[in-house]
Amino acid sequence: MKTYDYIVIGGGSGGIASANRAGMHGAKVLLIEAKELGGTCVNVGCVPKKVMWQASDAYQTIQRDASGYGIQAKDMTFDFKTLVKNRENYIDFLHGAYQRGLDSNGVEFLKGYAQFVDDNTVEVAGEQYTAPHILIATGGHADTLDIPGGNYAIDSDGFFALEKAPQHMIVLGAGYIAAELAGVVNGLGSKVTWAFRKERPLREFDQMLADNLVQIYEEEGLSIYKECIPSAIEKNGEQYTVTFENGEKTTGDCVLFAGGRSANVSGFGLGNTEVKLDDQGFIQVDKFQNTTAKGIYAIGDVIGKLELTPVAIAAGRRLSERLFNGQTDLYLDYNFVPSVVFTHPPIATIGWTEEQALAEYGQDEIKVYHSRFTPMYFALNEYRQKCEMKLVCLGKEEKIIGLHAIGVDVDEMLQGFAVAIKMGATKADFDNTVAIHPTGAEEFVTMT
Ligand code: FAD
Ligand code: NDP
Repeated sequence: MKTYDYIVIGGGSGGIASANRAGMHGAKVLLIEAKELGGTCVNVGCVPKKVMWQASDAYQTIQRDASGYGIQAKDMTFDFKTLVKNRENYIDFLHGAYQRGLDSNGVEFLKGYAQFVDDNTVEVAGEQYTAPHILIATGGHADTLDIPGGNYAIDSDGFFALEKAPQHMIVLGAGYIAAELAGVVNGLGSKVTWAFRKERPLREFDQMLADNLVQIYEEEGLSIYKECIPSAIEKNGEQYTVTFENGEKTTGDCVLFAGGRSANVSGFGLGNTEVKLDDQGFIQVDKFQNTTAKGIYAIGDVIGKLELTPVAIAAGRRLSERLFNGQTDLYLDYNFVPSVVFTHPPIATIGWTEEQALAEYGQDEIKVYHSRFTPMYFALNEYRQKCEMKLVCLGKEEKIIGLHAIGVDVDEMLQGFAVAIKMGATKADFDNTVAIHPTGAEEFVTMT
């Protein structure tokens, strides 16, 4: 049996980050990955999604916006196959970069499917490996649609496997992935119908964001089906008809379901350990990422806290600092984590929504500042898409506890403001910062 200081199961965002940090501090580390290095984010998540989002943005710039600037692109063509080929080549390049990173930190990489034998031992293809510390970073998978014909719907993995652009994509779901991929496909010139179960999508976000998004998507030609619960999918040749509980129907050549993700917790011998799951089926951990089994830790999507790549990375690095660099009190604070939804236009958000803040602190304690304007990008265009921003402030000192925005470029604005908010910035701090003109970001420091 081979012995290590640290065994990491899962070579995705969190596992790689934690393994590298442990290796950097001199630990003898084994990283086990069943598929490709990089996990969900690199192979079927953030990376291919952002490439598609950028392609869609470029298409919209040329098709929709350039003529306002006197630029005509009459002979524009778009080859979906080239986009997919170049995207996959880029992902291959990233696999190499991750391998080089592991090599430079002395992390041993084993391709295979790990199975727990007991709390300190795992097995891969009949070989056993042991360590006093084992990390579970096995990520998650898309939920399936449990209705007749639900198997006809592809998930986001299926979306990235498409070899030709759908002509009419029907999107079912109401979260990040549905909102993003509906925008991507619409931006690339296909017809899109987006159906969600309730009155608005993105219900966990500030209401202002979803309201603007739906309005903009409708302006851009998406068909929006509100309060539509899918009840069946039928296939007729190359076409799929989705029926909803209220009797509505829609037909297209591709149905995408994005209704959440569940943890990868089965099929690798968790029952041979003391690890327990919470009532949602995620691995139960304390704030230090300790599971209920001594010496076994879990991070990332498998704990279901905030399913974001930088969260998995941050938790993984902090854990390795704690285990292998004497930083015994270090843990990840899951509050005030910024996030961007890569819709068209993007959504940027951090902290409390207006609705949450009012419910928690009451009207007298909360002051909300707003700005709604047409970004200069659209100044010469017939189409004048709006940007809307909001600051949610708490108490007399007006501490900023929420910042939300939808509009062009807000994705790139958020990170810096997130630093200020994490540091406890007040509205007065924002007001004291001189604006940069002409930008959209200046609205955040000039709101009255
Ligand atoms: P993963 O990256 O899923 O890695 C887990 C790895 O474990 C996998 O490679 C799997 O093969 C391996 N594994 C599982 N079981 C075993 C086993 N028994 N033995 C060996 N290996 C095993 N987040 C963002 O921050 N920004 C975005 O823009 C964004 N876009 C996304 C778009 C989509 C379509 C999706 C699906 C997700 C997106 N996310 C985004 C979320 C992000 O991808 C995840 O939060 C992140 O990848 C989680 O990292 P992880 O390390 O927990 O798991
Ligand atoms: P989400 O959890 O974001 O949203 C799923 C939503 O779909 C549910 O909240 C629900 O909303 C709706 N839904 C659930 N079941 C059904 C059903 N049977 N029929 C119709 N609608 C249904 O899940 P996603 O799959 O979009 O994304 C998973 C996670 O991946 C995200 O939470 C995020 O953490 C991460 N991610 C991050 C990205 C980023 O950072 N930009 C991009 C993509 C993913 P309702 O109850 O309102 O109907």
